[in-house]
Amino acid sequence: MTSPFRQNPVFRFAPSPNGPLHLGHALSAFLNHDMAVAQGGLFLLRIEDIDLMRCTPAFEQGIYQDLRWLGLTWEEPVRRQSEHFFEYRAALDRFIDMGLVYPAFMSRGEIKAFVSEYESAGQSWPRDPDGAPLYPPLDKERDPQEVKALLASGAKHAWRLNMERALAQLSDPLVWLELGQGSETSIEADPAAWGDVVLSRSDAPSSYHLSVVIDDALQGVTKVVRGLDLFHATSMHRLLQALLDLPVPEYHHHRLILGPDGRKLSKSEGSTGLTVLRDAGCTPSDVRRFVGL
Ligand code: GLU
Repeated sequence: MTSPFRQNPVFRFAPSPNGPLHLGHALSAFLNHDMAVAQGGLFLLRIEDIDLMRCTPAFEQGIYQDLRWLGLTWEEPVRRQSEHFFEYRAALDRFIDMGLVYPAFMSRGEIKAFVSEYESAGQSWPRDPDGAPLYPPLDKERDPQEVKALLASGAKHAWRLNMERALAQLSDPLVWLELGQGSETSIEADPAAWGDVVLSRSDAPSSYHLSVVIDDALQGVTKVVRGLDLFHATSMHRLLQALLDLPVPEYHHHRLILGPDGRKLSKSEGSTGLTVLRDAGCTPSDVRRFVGL
């Protein structure tokens, strides 16, 4: 539900500290910051560090340094997701109570083996918009007593959304307002394309999809400006917002900065790293120019 009260827009840039920022991040940060300034809104910075294995304090410090160098300022305090696991857990508990999630015990290797066995018969197994195979239905079909015993034995598991049941909760089609296509466009969400997504990982008490919708709501974010690589994720976010009765921001998915190979930049791509550019003598205005602003 959108708030009936007019409010100043709230933007956020939400990097994960699992590598150095590159030109793609700079574009996202500039766009969010510049729109916030132009619209008299707030610019928030959120550190998405639920992956405790890959995120490091050094990368987090690098984010602050790079953004400061670019001349950006943001609201304090910065929200760090690793300090809010209990909030994500509370949302997961709601899903457990609603019977919309189930413990998923298959490892990556087991999923892969299931898919290759299925595909060896000549038919392809469905993939999600990121190209990952949809989760096999085996855990959903387990006997409840067996599930109980597995949980009691401490078997490693994630919590996955039961997509079929989740969709059955909806009375209206899910849409979002997309501002990144020149004019305002209403986009129909297709969460089913994601299958039974993980809401709580086996190695972290949340997931990207769950924590991002909780945080956007808790922080009062009204405009989500992020790369087109997350366009399809918005379908999932709309579903979670509907199930948890959260407010719905407007979305603006912006163009991506591509590397020389025509692919989206990755954090290991040294030559486009902001720190590397700074050390090579580039200025923040050079960076604006490099990202086409
Ligand atoms: N943390 C995500 C990333 O680094 C961005 C999430 C978002 O903007 O929704 O790609």
